[in-house]
Amino acid sequence: MTTKSRLLIIVTFMLLALTTATIINISLNFREYSINSAVEKSQMAANIVKDGLTAHMVNGMMDKRQYFLDKIATSNNIKSLWIARGENVISQYGEGLHSETIRDALDAQVLKTGESIQKITENTKDTTLRVTIPYKASTPADNTNCISCHNVNRGDTLGIISMEFDISDMRSSGMMTILKILGINLLFIIVVLLLINYYVTPYMNLFSNLQNGIKKAYSGDFTHEFISKVGGDAKNVVEQMNSLFRKMQETFGDIKYNLATFIPQGAALSNDPLHEAKTIISELSDIYKFKKTIELDGSKDEVYTRIIDILKLKYHVGHFAFYEVNNVTAERKLIYTTEEEENICFEKTNKNALECRAHRTNSVTISTEFPNLCQSCISLDIDYVCIPFNINHDVSLVVSMTSDNRDEVALMKKNIPSIRHYLEAAKPVIESQILMEKLRDTSLRDGMTGLYNRRFLEEVIDKIMSHANRHKESYAVLMLDVDFFKMVNDTYGHDTGDKVIVALSKVIKNSIREADLAIRYGGEEFLILLSNATDDGIMKVATKIHSAFGALSFDVGSSESLKKTLSIGIAKFPTDGDTIWKCIKYADTALYEAKNTGRNKIVEFKPEMFQGEDF
Ligand code: GH3
Ligand code: MG
Ligand code: MG
Repeated sequence: MTTKSRLLIIVTFMLLALTTATIINISLNFREYSINSAVEKSQMAANIVKDGLTAHMVNGMMDKRQYFLDKIATSNNIKSLWIARGENVISQYGEGLHSETIRDALDAQVLKTGESIQKITENTKDTTLRVTIPYKASTPADNTNCISCHNVNRGDTLGIISMEFDISDMRSSGMMTILKILGINLLFIIVVLLLINYYVTPYMNLFSNLQNGIKKAYSGDFTHEFISKVGGDAKNVVEQMNSLFRKMQETFGDIKYNLATFIPQGAALSNDPLHEAKTIISELSDIYKFKKTIELDGSKDEVYTRIIDILKLKYHVGHFAFYEVNNVTAERKLIYTTEEEENICFEKTNKNALECRAHRTNSVTISTEFPNLCQSCISLDIDYVCIPFNINHDVSLVVSMTSDNRDEVALMKKNIPSIRHYLEAAKPVIESQILMEKLRDTSLRDGMTGLYNRRFLEEVIDKIMSHANRHKESYAVLMLDVDFFKMVNDTYGHDTGDKVIVALSKVIKNSIREADLAIRYGGEEFLILLSNATDDGIMKVATKIHSAFGALSFDVGSSESLKKTLSIGIAKFPTDGDTIWKCIKYADTALYEAKNTGRNKIVEFKPEMFQGEDF
């Protein structure tokens, strides 16, 4: 119901209530007034009757009394008028006329009590006022002396005078008055309602116009134009609201435009500029915090972990895999997966990243868009959303999210732009981490052989030690040195010497496992750390390297070929020394022993070999 209708109903109701109260009040007063005037009239008539009868009695004209009573009745509009004698009069003068007997209980009561009675009788047709008054023996104050003729005391009731008046007119004139008041009031109500309608309608229209505008503004639409047909303050309000809305529209337009430059398209999907601004700002703030955090991360892997956490905690992706692609070799490395079993991609995709449709096409691949979209997917039951992201010339990323729930897939699709913002924010940090890693790698690796250098050993040795202690790991330290190497340089030149060094490094690489570590320790001196190897295994590796290198022959330009031998010293952690540094020293001692005892041999450390002070 509109406010206007409510107002009109309330006013109508109030005016009707007022009318009803007025009518009730008037009708009650009118009735009381009519009855009072009828009673007064009856009192007067009764007194006239009483005085007339007394006069008739005094003048000895009692035989004419009925004529007198009839005259009184007709001239005073009395419906019926009668008198009745009391016991004392009857016993002194007899019954009197037939009409002068007691007619009802009221007559008897007034005769008995000497008190007058009035009674109103109403039925559907008419209203009758009955008045019965006593006729009492006169008192000395009166001019007549009743007791001169009647054997009664002064004040005794001699008889009664009863009258009935028809006061039906009073009721009909009362009804007429009420009808007139009702008519006037109804007319008044109609006029009031018309006036209210005339003056209130423009305000009500303005009010609902304001309401509509505010409702639209609440949902972000500030284009509403407020209109008012009322002047004065209302017009001012409308003008102010219009200018406020124009300002809001412009401001939010600007905010949206400016924020959109920070966030690529599709970030905020609302038509409400306020909501949109709020979403973009909160997104920007999250990304800003993310960026600030990853800028302080120490490695590329730490940054990857943050991205994985964002996928899990912010986007609540239940199933996904995160890959790093080497663009040069087209190899794809799985960085993280939520799956315990295999991922949805064929294993071959890791070997050749071009098998990954998202990576190859550099576009988001969504399985719900085309049947069997990515041919490398092994599952037909699970949907996937794969986002490729290029970091630089060397590295790309692929986020592969999976689900068997279409709603979840729709949510993933919706989150693609947002996820890309995070990748975009991480891109420069990952790029610089890659660069740092490259720089680090070159400073920690030997350029000629590709093996780690001594600096690297110094950096990682503490970590290796604590890991070994925690996990009760053992290490064998092998120190290798080419016998009479100086002679190669001196006889065949430095280049040949280099070839020998590179050849030995290859022999070493081919002889150890991935968990082992080979280091170019000095010129033609190498150090190998074999992890968790048995005594037998250690010796096997040493022998393998020793004989493989010994079997090599180097082309030195002429018909002859060059063959070289190798000396190897071995010490074991923790059996020989309680630190790896000690074991390196002991392996060097064993190597020295090998050199001193003829070279071209493998010598295991014995405590008696070490002459120096314990450290
Ligand atoms: P020994 O059997 O006692 O080991 O005799 P050796 O001649 O091999 O003596 P040593 O191990 O001391 O010789 C090391 C030589 O290796 C000295 C140095 O000129 C040479 N050298 C060091 N680094 C390089 C390198 O990078 N290239 C080449 N060609 N020679 C190197
Ligand atoms: Mg040597
Ligand atoms: Mg040497």
